[in-house]
Amino acid sequence: MAKDLKTTKFVLDESDVPTHWYNLAADLPALPPPPIHPGTGQPVGPDDLAPLFPMELILQEVSRDRWIEIPEPVRDVYRLWRPTPLYRAHRLERVLGTPARIFYKYEGVSPAGSHKPNTAVAQAYYNKQAGVKRLTTETGAGQWGSALAMACAFFELELKVYMVRASYEQKPYRRILMETWGARCVPSPSPDTEAGRRVLAEHPDSPGSLGIAISEAVEDAATREDTKYSLGSVLNHVLLHQTVIGQEAQKQFELAGTYPDVIFGCVGGGSNFAGLAFPFVREKLEGRDIRIVAVEPTACPSLTRGAYTFDFGDTGRMTPLMKMHTLGHTFIPAAIHAGGLRYHGMAPLVSLLYEQGIIEALALPQNAVFEGAVLFARAEGIVPAPESAHAVRAAIDEARRCAETGEEKTILIGLSGHGHFDLGAYEAYLAGRLEDYEHPEEEIRKALAALPQVGT
Ligand SMILES: *Cc1c(COP(=O)(O)O)cnc(C)c1O
Repeated sequence: MAKDLKTTKFVLDESDVPTHWYNLAADLPALPPPPIHPGTGQPVGPDDLAPLFPMELILQEVSRDRWIEIPEPVRDVYRLWRPTPLYRAHRLERVLGTPARIFYKYEGVSPAGSHKPNTAVAQAYYNKQAGVKRLTTETGAGQWGSALAMACAFFELELKVYMVRASYEQKPYRRILMETWGARCVPSPSPDTEAGRRVLAEHPDSPGSLGIAISEAVEDAATREDTKYSLGSVLNHVLLHQTVIGQEAQKQFELAGTYPDVIFGCVGGGSNFAGLAFPFVREKLEGRDIRIVAVEPTACPSLTRGAYTFDFGDTGRMTPLMKMHTLGHTFIPAAIHAGGLRYHGMAPLVSLLYEQGIIEALALPQNAVFEGAVLFARAEGIVPAPESAHAVRAAIDEARRCAETGEEKTILIGLSGHGHFDLGAYEAYLAGRLEDYEHPEEEIRKALAALPQVGT
């Protein structure tokens, strides 16, 4: 039973910003296999990655140390918005008439409005330390690009963002945010790279894709001495940087005098989910009884319907092959509004946990997700990002089941960001104009049949 029945917000002190990131690789009985070089078919070594990432991040990528110290300049920036609040959703509980206790850990209080600055700031710092002058990255709807733009402003790095053209034209506000923080943002495909020019020659009106934008950003970084590349999800070091979320939540649950029975987080590439869940996974591996559920869209169901196999991280087949749950690198998901969840693959660490049955997964269609988001907004005030709303809806369904059975479960939601830049999506939902997509099995089979046969 919760000691604290009335409190709404469990707030920690600035001195409670974690001093270390938690590295789950130290506690896993088996690790995901190393990524494979697409040319040689051999495992990728640190030297292969050196043109793209600074050595500190490459070492974190392969580290098995349990704790990795957070540099003081990174903690300094974290203190601008961390620790983030843990809320008890009293009003939502009342609306649902549930005996369950619902909590949410809210990452939308960062200046960029999501969890993404947790890794953007760390990555900008290590690049600056390594003498890098300029970063490149890709962005879809702009959440990652804007987080990295802010981080580069703090550490005085130049940033060039290749933004998927369709979003560049339809969603100007995150582009303006990036430019306000000093980044240069171009629509992708662009005439600035070989990869971009190749696409433009064939399809001058190409709306672009995340896969093309990754190829452009990687090429730009690989061909310039002063430039490196930065990725906002999927990789081990990105997941590592996000673990401040779960560590803070554990402390906050001590204040609340309870402990989650079930955790819901949304998954695109897996970073916010991992950041919240991994510190709890550690306790689960030590025997604690806790369910951890990854929630994905039915339009892009990489965990629930993808294969666990080696695949490229990008459409352009430039990245190493990673063993992960994937719908195939040729997979193009429907244009759902949770843009951050439209990725064909899943972080290798999250994929492995799912394969081993340590975490669960479920997929939801977007109308159900927005229905949950609106219910949440009317009860709690916060308008969730469409991505985060996947976790919200799954938690609402769980709380309703508790109302039927009378179970007093403690439910934790990872609320990864706010939806203030996604009001067009809310408008479409409220007007009844949202479509649900179920990706056809036939399409998935075809995309999977085209996968490279390596390391299996
Ligand atoms: C980018 C994004 C996601 C999805 O990315 P993950 O790496 O899976 O966390 C989820 N929520 C928000 C708010 C995002 O901006």
